[in-house]
Amino acid sequence: SESQMEAGRRAYELDRKHVFHSWSAQEQIDPMTVVDAEGSWMWDGEGKKVLDLASQLIFTNLGHKHPKVVEAVKQQAEELCTIAPQHANGARSEAARLITDRLANDLNHVFFTNGGADANEHAVRMARLHTGRHKVLSAYRAYHGGTHLAINLTGDPRRFASDRASDGVVHFFPAYTYRSHFGSETEEQETERALNHLRDVMMLEGTDQVAAIVLEAIPGTAGIYVPPPGYMEGVRKLCDEHGIIMILDEVMAGFGRAGKWFAHQHFDVEPDIVTFAKGVNSGYVPMGGVVMDDSIYATFADRAYPGGLTYSGHPLAAAAAVAAIEAMESEGVLEHVQRLSEEVFGPRLAEIKAKHPSVGDVRGVGAFWAIELVQDRDTKEPIAPYGQTASVMKDIMAECRSRGAVPFMNMNRLHICPPLNITREDLNFGLDVVDEALKLADDFVDR
Ligand code: PLP
Repeated sequence: SESQMEAGRRAYELDRKHVFHSWSAQEQIDPMTVVDAEGSWMWDGEGKKVLDLASQLIFTNLGHKHPKVVEAVKQQAEELCTIAPQHANGARSEAARLITDRLANDLNHVFFTNGGADANEHAVRMARLHTGRHKVLSAYRAYHGGTHLAINLTGDPRRFASDRASDGVVHFFPAYTYRSHFGSETEEQETERALNHLRDVMMLEGTDQVAAIVLEAIPGTAGIYVPPPGYMEGVRKLCDEHGIIMILDEVMAGFGRAGKWFAHQHFDVEPDIVTFAKGVNSGYVPMGGVVMDDSIYATFADRAYPGGLTYSGHPLAAAAAVAAIEAMESEGVLEHVQRLSEEVFGPRLAEIKAKHPSVGDVRGVGAFWAIELVQDRDTKEPIAPYGQTASVMKDIMAECRSRGAVPFMNMNRLHICPPLNITREDLNFGLDVVDEALKLADDFVDR
């Protein structure tokens, strides 16, 4: 409507005057104003309807304005809008029950945080206190959050500015078959070689010095590269041999994104600690958390845990989590994602790869897919250099937007991660848009 557009213009103007944005050169960005959104769609400042293939920042797993989640937040606001962390509260208790019910039997307690980064900070703190060790291993090509320790755990260029504070973090190469660091040609080779490498890193760092290994259950922002068969199980085994705590970061991959409640449930592993955020309540109210197993819990049974947060388990966020988890269950969202994965994402992305010479790889699971763009399929040289963006990627994004759908972009990749309850028809429309826009990448490669 005209009044929404007027409000949108004002929002844009004030944004440019007063708002400082994440990860950005402030004068080089042109934020899209969103004046309204419903389900998988957003309306921009010009009143144009755009399909959200990125679930915002991969968190609106139930899309916008899910009526049951909105209603739960409203009701909670009227009943008890906030509460200090030391009190027991119905919404928080119920959220903790629903989350732990979806994990292995010995993962029984949740420490709620404000988001993903602080969940990882606390997970490592718990592992250090539990083991009495300090070093932490984490993977290159990973993202774990923007706070002090979490950014150091991160294995991408966003870490560089904070590197001097690396605080005991040691990086290793994870299994990534498409861009293997070990020269592997098959997944079997990649699993074996990546595990040999990890075993060596543990040995060289001193196995008795390592408190924890932190891994994304399926790495997200760094490229949605699903660990090859046996890799996660091998990591678990190395952790068991050396008393190292296995922390799986499910912030992006969890809560149905990968087609299961938690992405690690695709593998035969039980982590000691799981961190989550985003999809737990579709991001309607900020929330993250750490789920710990009984042995880590026991460390803090009679010894105070040195950490806390004013808003730990905030009732509005917790009520949204309860409603989101119940809606995902009652609406068969996981089954829907599995069908979309097999019948739409898989086959259509395979077609896109066959058709576009600029597409080097397509991969994913559930509603969690990446298209990797290359200059040359044989050399796999990325279309945008590592750690940078390229004008061709911006052009592809602009073309997608003008055709009415926006994927997520990172370096030389497009990620297709729409709300989990997107209709088949909308998803097909979004993939048509991406398919058309990729002609720009082909032209760039042929030039
Ligand atoms: N871990 C992973 C795997 C993520 O993808 C993210 C955010 O994208 C985070 C942690 C950080 O979460 P937050 O931005 O809520 O702190």
